[in-house]
Amino acid sequence: MSCIFCKIIAGEIPSTKLFEDDQFIAIKDLHPQAAVHVLVIPKKHVVSLDEAFPSDGSGDTEFIGKLMATGTRVARERGLLPGGFRSVINTGAGGGQSVFHLHLHILGGGSMSGKFG
Ligand code: AMP
Ligand code: ZN
Repeated sequence: MSCIFCKIIAGEIPSTKLFEDDQFIAIKDLHPQAAVHVLVIPKKHVVSLDEAFPSDGSGDTEFIGKLMATGTRVARERGLLPGGFRSVINTGAGGGQSVFHLHLHILGGGSMSGKFG
């Protein structure tokens, strides 16, 4: 297994875990881009939204809904609500994805300058 997030999920490399249930973990990003920067990672290895939602329309919308719900829960628990937060999913190299195991970024705290910077 070469996937860094699968290794984190398996406890083979350390992380700062903020949340865990049967389907997801939430950890602190190693290189935070905001005062609060959390990654919500499905325990199941799915590469990206491209893999999650194939062109045949068979994607699991409930699974992605739970990913968003978990991100919102973690954002609230980290004190980002009601102020607000940013949620980002990068898809593919062209979308800036660097770890090819689907994950949701939750960013907030302080001023979030630049819409997509
Ligand atoms: P992306 O570029 O959207 O694929 O996001 C990957 C994120 O994973 C980046 O924000 C990295 O800082 C973060 N990251 C990489 N390795 C680790 C790690 N071992 N622990 C926590 N975050 C990591
Ligand atoms: Zn993985």
